[in-house]
Amino acid sequence: MPRPLPDRAASFVREIRSFTDEHIVPLERELGAHGFVALVPKLEALRSKAKERGLWAPFLPKDLGGQGLTLLEYAHVSEALGRSPVAHYVFNCQAPDVGNMELLHMFGTDAQKERFLGPLTRGETRSSFGMTEPEHAGSNPVWLSTRARKDGDDYVIDGHKWFTSSFEGSAFCIVMAVTEPDAPMHARASQIIVPTDTPGLRFVRNLPVMGEAGGGWASHAEIVLEGVRVPQSNRIGPEGSGFLLAQERLGPGRIHHAMRWIGVAERCFELMCTRAATRELSPGKPLGTKDTIQGWIADSRAEIDASRLLVLDAAEQMDREGAAASRDAISIVKFYVAGMLDRVMDRALQTHGGLGMLDDTPIAWWYRHERAARIYDGPDEVHKSSLAKRILSRHGMKKRD
Ligand SMILES: Cc1cc2nc3c(=O)[nH]c(=O)nc-3n(C[C@H](O)[C@H](O)[C@H](O)COP(=O)(O)OP(=O)(O)OC[C@H]3O[C@@H](n4cnc5c(N)ncnc54)[C@H](O)[C@@H]3O)c2cc1C
Repeated sequence: MPRPLPDRAASFVREIRSFTDEHIVPLERELGAHGFVALVPKLEALRSKAKERGLWAPFLPKDLGGQGLTLLEYAHVSEALGRSPVAHYVFNCQAPDVGNMELLHMFGTDAQKERFLGPLTRGETRSSFGMTEPEHAGSNPVWLSTRARKDGDDYVIDGHKWFTSSFEGSAFCIVMAVTEPDAPMHARASQIIVPTDTPGLRFVRNLPVMGEAGGGWASHAEIVLEGVRVPQSNRIGPEGSGFLLAQERLGPGRIHHAMRWIGVAERCFELMCTRAATRELSPGKPLGTKDTIQGWIADSRAEIDASRLLVLDAAEQMDREGAAASRDAISIVKFYVAGMLDRVMDRALQTHGGLGMLDDTPIAWWYRHERAARIYDGPDEVHKSSLAKRILSRHGMKKRD
């Protein structure tokens, strides 16, 4: 790797990598064959072990039970976790909980922190985040139909959400709902905590992502809210701040995803190289003697290294200047690293031939689940367009919309 690891991160990376290789990688076949839910008892035991070893939630501040790493330090750790599909879960670093923890930590009231954040940071509960609606383009997050109307001290919420990741089994969902319908578009919605056992909150189905509906943390739900009543004190932040807070939540979240994708790409790369070096096309002639495969290996090595540098630079800038000042870096990382991941996973799968289509390696699992990297938290095209518009405005282009 072309950049030295900060000292504190280096020891975390060493320990997390050996923990992952020793305890989590051996579970991958079972994950592929039986799905996430069947693994939960073993994963819970590993979570306790991660806590005992002082490796729990490295991104969280120490007073919340984490290890207090900076974003730059955590970037290295997250890459190590990305080596296996459920490693982030074992260390309580999984989306969407990370984003929800950061949101509640930054903007939650004391009561919200005690009731919702504490159990989440301790790994006693899980959470979900419901913004996207089937009826509206998720790429335009200010256009929502879900409505929260005031009634006494409560909100009564009606709406329809989908792709609510990890909803099944979550203790609460942070729901984005319009509370100020007459305000400008960007100031209409608020984020409201809805405990999942609230009457009127209905689970419709887990969406079959590339044919796999999954379960528990590894699922994406469609849900309906009909007359869901929660106290107004469950709103996070001021009225109408939902979109602003979503940007705050998504800024670091996008970097977190990109850090993980580097780890996924590295593991796919390792598997690709091992297969190319050992799979013989004829006696004494491995796949790796072919120009095409050599080209894939060289391109992948260069693209992963370039991506890592972009991610580390973005993390460093965010540590130094915050999310708002790092918007260009965040957009670049989001579309560039997602594209790199897509290409490296595809080359690794192709190199394995028919074996690549099976769950005997983790490549197929990632292929099903990580294709979405180019769609969620803003599709590639949206990030490219907003980056280009910011650059053009610095060159004098006037805004028309
Ligand atoms: C696996 C997965 C997990 C998810 N988890 C969550 C979650 O936990 N919570 C949640 O609220 N949402 C979640 N989402 C939803 C996700 O955020 C949306 O899918 C995303 O915002 C895109 O919205 P859309 O699907 O409605 O696509 P649309 O907005 O309909 O866009 C379709 C396509 O149009 C193109 N496009 C869109 N806008 C532009 C533009 N301005 N210029 C050029 N082209 C454009 C893009 O290619 C885009 O892919 C998840 C999605 C997936 C796939």
